[in-house]
Amino acid sequence: MPSTPRRPAQPAAASRAGDPGVRLGLHGDWDYALHLPLHYVDETRITPIAVLREGTAALVQARVRSAELGGARRQLRVRVDDDSGSLELRFFHVYPNWQRQYAVGKLMRIRGEPRRTLYGFEMVHPSCHASAADAPLPQRLTPVYPSAAGISQSWLRTAVAAALRRLDLREWLPDALLQRYALPAIGPSLELLHAPPADAELASLQARSHPAWRRIKFDELLAQQMAQQLARARRATLRAWPMATGGSALVQRLRAALPFALTPSQHACVEQIVADLQRAQPMHRLLQGDVGSGKTVVAALAAAHAVDSGFQCALMAPTDILAGQHLRKLADWLQPLGIGVAWLRGAQGRRERAAELARAASGEAALVVGTHAVIQQGVQFARLGLAIVDEQHRFGVAQRLSLRAKGGEREPHLLMMSATPIPRTLAMALFGDLDVSTIDGMPPGRTPVRTRVFDEARRDEVIERVCAQVRDGRQVYWVCPLIEEGETELRNAEAAFAELQAALGAHAALVGLLHGRMPAARKAEVMDAFAGGQLRLLVATTVIEVGVDVPAASLMVVEHAERFGLSQLHQLRGRVGRGGGAAECLLLFAPPLSATARARLQALRESADGFALANRDLELRGPGELLGQRQSGLQALRHADLRDDADLVAVARDAAVWLLQHDPAAAGLHLERWLGGGVDWLAA
Ligand code: ADP
Ligand code: MG
Repeated sequence: MPSTPRRPAQPAAASRAGDPGVRLGLHGDWDYALHLPLHYVDETRITPIAVLREGTAALVQARVRSAELGGARRQLRVRVDDDSGSLELRFFHVYPNWQRQYAVGKLMRIRGEPRRTLYGFEMVHPSCHASAADAPLPQRLTPVYPSAAGISQSWLRTAVAAALRRLDLREWLPDALLQRYALPAIGPSLELLHAPPADAELASLQARSHPAWRRIKFDELLAQQMAQQLARARRATLRAWPMATGGSALVQRLRAALPFALTPSQHACVEQIVADLQRAQPMHRLLQGDVGSGKTVVAALAAAHAVDSGFQCALMAPTDILAGQHLRKLADWLQPLGIGVAWLRGAQGRRERAAELARAASGEAALVVGTHAVIQQGVQFARLGLAIVDEQHRFGVAQRLSLRAKGGEREPHLLMMSATPIPRTLAMALFGDLDVSTIDGMPPGRTPVRTRVFDEARRDEVIERVCAQVRDGRQVYWVCPLIEEGETELRNAEAAFAELQAALGAHAALVGLLHGRMPAARKAEVMDAFAGGQLRLLVATTVIEVGVDVPAASLMVVEHAERFGLSQLHQLRGRVGRGGGAAECLLLFAPPLSATARARLQALRESADGFALANRDLELRGPGELLGQRQSGLQALRHADLRDDADLVAVARDAAVWLLQHDPAAAGLHLERWLGGGVDWLAA
């Protein structure tokens, strides 16, 4: 809300260290120009008090009639009049100079939202400043920008206006393109969005459907689509080792040894991957499938094909636990076929590590499994042909690049796996430069997890149920929100652990505790004990979120479920019900629930389909959050909304092809403006 017209501090020149804008991610003039208002306030006209409307913010010009401090909370009440009526202003924070500020008889301009009371209208905490009766009113709507603590709107307004003045806002996209898609020019669009005239269509501006908004979204998507097309073209010039064509004996043997048959969609994914591996161009493929859909076996078959062709395969997973689990599973499957497996992780003894490194470097280990340790300096491969990244969104682009760099003379083929199902339109928009294989549905024999929601007040009932299952010899997960400093009101994993041990009495020894702050070796021990059945109740923070596979677990309780995202809860829930028997997930929440939290829990109760839930999540939250902040590069989509602007994605894709071909200079300028120096799209 605009406050008194204090002269704002002159904004520092763009990108100076300590510049408040940097905290908002604003570095250069273009960043400021593209920092678009959330909404606007109309200070272009004065509303007489008599025609104020409840709930509609308005600017009033009135004279102070009285001001007094009082009441239990020491509030300041100021009564003001204009020719048409009178209005009360209330303030809960009072500055020492209030008597001067609201001196009787002073003429003020007051902006706020009127509220009807028994005594007429009042405004709580309006913004006020002294004004001459004939002081000119702004000609344009006042923008309200996204900001952060300590960064005032007036500072931002001045900074943005200065950036717009410095920038060269001449059009750089060819007329033909703008005409084809009926888009307005960039300069007027930006000027309109930052300072709309008083008669602008406020509704379409706020809804971001105004043509000026459309131009901005189009530009953003155009940059993104061009970057993807360039990345794809660049990759087409890279060389990989083509792997053996035709069937692989090793793959046949592995398939025959598996205790289950592949589902048709797993089979299709293997075929797509193997076809890629046979090319001399590096594969760049995302394998996505709901949690529990069976991606690991697809990866193992791809690895077997690579190994049979004489290459090594590296598999990288984000945590020690997950990497350890892949190691066990892949070793079980592949070692009997004579494939050597090496193991690299963060916390590893010097001697063990040296031995594993030597086996990777000599090629004796055809498969190297590990965490980030796989991409560290000093890790060498004899002949790396295939790199697999599990839970790819947990890694940054730089990490994926360093894995690829381990290929040496030629690039390894790259397979990325993700359990965050991405709706198809979103996948197209975000990963236009990736090929995508999708495992639809689940392996046969799974019963959907029954999901129930419980108020924290019924905690005892839930605990009783957990104890009964443990006594019956079943396995149970108890998930707590992450331990965060200062969040003392949250039950942390340790408290729940003690509580459950006490509840289990004689069976207390069957309870294990797993959280992020434990040393890696201890975590692995606990996980192993749970996987082996020596522990029956595992109290864990979300370190179990990704990929853990303990088929016997049949019950999961999630505490403070309202704190988790929809996809996250779905992933968690996917940990149970893998053994074929009936499984249950109990979501405990602490009231009061926000409307979106309620909608999330309800969606989980009603659907077991990760793709449907991902779509719902998209509706509830928007794409940035769905994918998580860590998904580097994705923040690049700040303006376009993939739900509302799906049509623009297709338009931008065609426009990108055209522009790169017909006007490379304009294409280059556009990329420079939008992506600046270092945006991940180019490398991803
Ligand atoms: P995710 O896709 O979440 O990584 P996993 O690869 O861990 O899932 O597979 C989940 C479980 O399903 C594992 O125990 C795996 O062995 C099993 N599985 C995979 N494919 C099949 C199949 N076709 N039939 C039966 N079980 C399968
Ligand atoms: Mg997995």
